Amino acid sequence: MSLLSVIVPCYNEEENISLFYSELLDKISVLTEKGIDLELLYIDDGSRDRTVEEVKKLREKDERVHLVSFSRNFGKEAAMYAGLENANGDYVVIMDADLQDPPALLPEMFVYLEQGYDSVATRRVDRKGEPPIRSFFARMFYRLMKKISKTEFMDGARDYRLMTRQVVDAILSMREYNRFTKGIFGWVGFRTKWVEYENVERAKGETKWNFWRLFLYSMDGILAFSTAPLLLASVMGVLFCIIAFLMIVFIIVRKLIFGDPVSGWPSLVCIILMTSGVQFFCTGILGQYLAKTYMEVKRRPLYLIKEKL
Ligand code: UDP
Ligand code: MG
Repeated sequence: MSLLSVIVPCYNEEENISLFYSELLDKISVLTEKGIDLELLYIDDGSRDRTVEEVKKLREKDERVHLVSFSRNFGKEAAMYAGLENANGDYVVIMDADLQDPPALLPEMFVYLEQGYDSVATRRVDRKGEPPIRSFFARMFYRLMKKISKTEFMDGARDYRLMTRQVVDAILSMREYNRFTKGIFGWVGFRTKWVEYENVERAKGETKWNFWRLFLYSMDGILAFSTAPLLLASVMGVLFCIIAFLMIVFIIVRKLIFGDPVSGWPSLVCIILMTSGVQFFCTGILGQYLAKTYMEVKRRPLYLIKEKL
């Protein structure tokens, strides 16, 4: 008998807990018939609503349901890591509580594992029902990441992924504090099959990702998986030195040939403003990496557990 662990990060998802449960059981009956046992881990990421109570209610009925509850909101990345750490399965899958990761795909995904793939990833082929501006920036982000990072990034990739124990252990071995799972999946490698599906809208409740939060998350992704901004800072430094050198040569030559007095302080002010702007920008980039390094060396735990069932 092999065991399948389903990890569900939940933050204020009271309405979705039991909905997800019944939908999942309904859709994976094929797998249970095949002799695959189920373990369902709800990771409560410091919810302020009745999420924990809902999970406990399910647990009274079904012992396969487990709960890991955080002391506060640590973010979805931490919740996913906690799920992977607490999962005992030979196969592990991460799914959103809002049914945006259709459980109906699971039997198909399992077939690929049987064919010898180590992990089965999913991506959305469209972003139906999402604000256009959000889709636009998401696409820009993936295009940028493809250029500046050596790690593979797939546009529309979800965190919905089915993995073998080997892949899970590989991900767990990456204990970094600044986690960006979409990059980590790509970084660990292994044979991955991509399954595509059309966007499904959230079952109940609202998304926890506003534009600002997504922006910060994308910055985390860039800083965690690329050092290209640092290179950009150096390139700009060199570029400005070259420009300054050319301008000095131009002024000296003009003075020698035409005897012009050196004039024009407005232009000088512009140049000073611009170069100091660039310097601040570059120091800012350095600061971002330094801040990440600072958080990393503190070695704080990724999450704190308040309750575990
Ligand atoms: N989530 C979480 N912690 C957070 C934010 C979200 O565990 O701080 C969970 C949330 O409960 C859901 C999943 O992550 O199961 C995806 O969140 P959401 O549906 O809000 O994001 P979207 O699908 O809009 O990208
Ligand atoms: Mg969602």
